[in-house]
Amino acid sequence: MVYREIDALLKYAEKNLLLPKKNADYVRNNIFRLLGLDAYCEDGQGEEVTDETPERLLDAFVSACTKEGLFSPDEAGYYRDAVMGELMLSPKDVQDIFEKKREAEGSKAALGWFYDYSVKGDYVKKAALDKNPRFSSQGLIITINKAKPEFRDPKKAVSGNSTKTGYPKCNICHENEGFAGRSKRTLRTIDITLGGEPWFWQYSPYGYFNQHGIAVNYTHTPMYIDRGTFTRLMDFVDMFPAYFIGCNAPLERIGGSVLAHDHYQGGGEILPMHKAGAAYTMSAKEYPETVVEVVDWAGTVLRIVSHSRHDIEEIGDRIRTKWLNFEDRALGIIPEDEKGVHNAISPTVVRTKRGYEMSIILRSNVTSEQYPDGVFHAHPEYHIIKKESIGLIEAQGLFILPGRLEKELGEIEALISEGKPLSEALQDFKHVYDDVVKRVGLTSDMGRVKAAMREELGAICNAILENTAVFKDKRQTVAFMNDLGFAL
Ligand SMILES: [Zn+2]
Repeated sequence: MVYREIDALLKYAEKNLLLPKKNADYVRNNIFRLLGLDAYCEDGQGEEVTDETPERLLDAFVSACTKEGLFSPDEAGYYRDAVMGELMLSPKDVQDIFEKKREAEGSKAALGWFYDYSVKGDYVKKAALDKNPRFSSQGLIITINKAKPEFRDPKKAVSGNSTKTGYPKCNICHENEGFAGRSKRTLRTIDITLGGEPWFWQYSPYGYFNQHGIAVNYTHTPMYIDRGTFTRLMDFVDMFPAYFIGCNAPLERIGGSVLAHDHYQGGGEILPMHKAGAAYTMSAKEYPETVVEVVDWAGTVLRIVSHSRHDIEEIGDRIRTKWLNFEDRALGIIPEDEKGVHNAISPTVVRTKRGYEMSIILRSNVTSEQYPDGVFHAHPEYHIIKKESIGLIEAQGLFILPGRLEKELGEIEALISEGKPLSEALQDFKHVYDDVVKRVGLTSDMGRVKAAMREELGAICNAILENTAVFKDKRQTVAFMNDLGFAL
């Protein structure tokens, strides 16, 4: 009977979701209303529940409900979300606990609690994420994303994945909190203030790294970057110094998947680009407390390092303004033409012993006859590995590759270890096959083949980052800063 499964979920919630005992009957009745039940028999009261995540209990609940015809299997996603939403604390209660924890134990502990609560409430699908292969290679982190479908249409990003009914206006608007129509009953957000404006923080259901989340403007307004962006990003790391936060370039093909609503991405992992050293260090007399580093990185990145917020805002904005108008046709850099604006920056910041480290990634989404998907985008020979936009997360050295690759690359590894040539169906991977064979030969040692494949993926992802670099030679980046009065 479904009562046993419902009672198990209530016990789970008392233990993991801070459901007050006083509310247990009330919440059980809410679930009955949801399922159209009007009777109860206490057949599961005695059983202990030791689960720390709800998957197993939800699976049992779904299977009992579908067996009794309460809903059909294809409605399971909706009901899982709806029943968990009933078991969780209200947004206000979550915010109050967060604030109390922040005062008593600091922001890192408070964020850790909120992340854990989002996992236990089944908003963050951590079990699915933990199944994604993830490894380091050639100074990058590579994950294969089995949890989320491949997203190949950059045009969709511009429309902001808008809804048919127009409510909520897009899929990151604050009105999604608790909205059953989008299976967001379990979404909880934390209010924050950035640049004096109301924003909120939430975790991503399919995050790509530890405590991956987004800071979102309460107002549904398009992505944009101005001087205030640097201020807001620094406000964020002042509030949450354990996190990085960055802003995608507000243009299609090089930005994020939602351009219609202003938001930043961040979280509790310092990504490879922030750890990369300096190829050149530059300074200017007017900013004695501050240096600008040309980052030793495949993409084109300037890193402003300072304890002075004023210097960072001012230099950041000077770099932004200069880059937005920068033209060098010999290098293929065209700031604007009949197709629109092409130059954009992507700023991202961490706090370290050195102060704020504000990295500014120079980006261009210009296209040409030869490169209709973007001159500074992954070139066609790499599309079989990665065709999607190279957004802020990839630009910082964490690559999210499509889930289909697990099977395809597995087949290639098997062929190599069996000494067989590449099959007809996998011809698009010819250079991957050839390169891996070049690295290890046709060996039957599967461990070595797999290691060589990982090295190969790292090399390809670095080559993709080089494709995105607007200056292929770091001395060109130095010259760019020379024009702003900075010297080696
Ligand atoms: Zn919105």
